[in-house]
Amino acid sequence: MQFSQIIGQHDTKQYLTTSVQQGHLPHAQLWLSPQGSGSLALALAYIQYVLCLHPTPHDSCGTCQHCRKISKRIHPDLHFSYPVIKKEKKGISTDYLAEWRKALQNNPYLPYQQWLKTIDAENKQGNISKDECADILHKLSLKSFESPYKVLIMWLPEYLGTEGNRLLKLLEEPPEDTLFVLVAESQEAILPTIRSRCQLLKIPKLHDTDLIQYLQTQLPHLPLEQAATAAFLADGDANAALDFAQNTENNLFDIFIEWLRTCYVGKGPDMLRWTEKVALQGRENQKHLFQYGLHFVRSWMLLRVTQDTSRVKLQPRELQAAVNLANKVQAPFDQLTNLLNETIAHIERNANPKILFLDASIQLSKMLRPIVG
Ligand SMILES: [Zn+2]
Repeated sequence: MQFSQIIGQHDTKQYLTTSVQQGHLPHAQLWLSPQGSGSLALALAYIQYVLCLHPTPHDSCGTCQHCRKISKRIHPDLHFSYPVIKKEKKGISTDYLAEWRKALQNNPYLPYQQWLKTIDAENKQGNISKDECADILHKLSLKSFESPYKVLIMWLPEYLGTEGNRLLKLLEEPPEDTLFVLVAESQEAILPTIRSRCQLLKIPKLHDTDLIQYLQTQLPHLPLEQAATAAFLADGDANAALDFAQNTENNLFDIFIEWLRTCYVGKGPDMLRWTEKVALQGRENQKHLFQYGLHFVRSWMLLRVTQDTSRVKLQPRELQAAVNLANKVQAPFDQLTNLLNETIAHIERNANPKILFLDASIQLSKMLRPIVG
């Protein structure tokens, strides 16, 4: 993976290449960034830059033996550790290496939920186990094979239980020429003992302009306006942006507006039908629907207050609906926003979707009232 293949993150790339050129290579680094911002891909590009035989000021060469092996994730001195589940005879990262290589090949922005799906985790949560820590200690005790460094990229050290304390000595006094890059999403969820032994690098979420550019390379026929909406909704997450763009605005819009309409009329059987339809969708799709809902409701609210259509980012059909609503329906917007946020939080916590959506529908139907006069 080269820096040039990674969306945006210009400042971080600049910082990383400069620090390597200056010979500044901290042995243990903790990278922190929101989901979908590309930090795992950046870690791969960074290590490739460190090991590359012919780097330029801005990127690795992409063709030397180290670059070629890292790009196929088969470099013998580059080790990975990531959350996995116990299944049959499998229990540590090495057992899942084939799946890992393929998953990264398909999507170097791999979200955790997608990774769990790839390894058929069903409803189990991933874990970086005691056996995994022992395996890491073993791997890094060996001499490097081909390059001056032995490297471990650990993805999501949040899943390292207290067993992670077995790695402390290694992080504190690493064997000669060992580099650790821990790629995390949530600082609070990492063992404080691990956190305090690493040099922290915060990587920001992606800018909308970078996401728009990314969407237009992935989906060349996507109209600019639609790319802009998807980027706006995704809030810096490359995977979410692609999902939003592929789901097309119409799909989310139609389902959400149907919900508003159904709850406004307030007929139980219709609300139940909507609930059952949405409950059948995947959890990520459900989350996107309510995130889209937040975006739509904010626009509706803004129109209600300002009547200024130039201030909202909506497609023509959406705009028409929002204008109609602004003229005809009133709602306590802070309560409505809370309801949507809470619903998203419950989806994330695996709430029963039928109960969740029916309850949300009943609450919504109490909030929507016609504007009289
Ligand atoms: Zn190279």
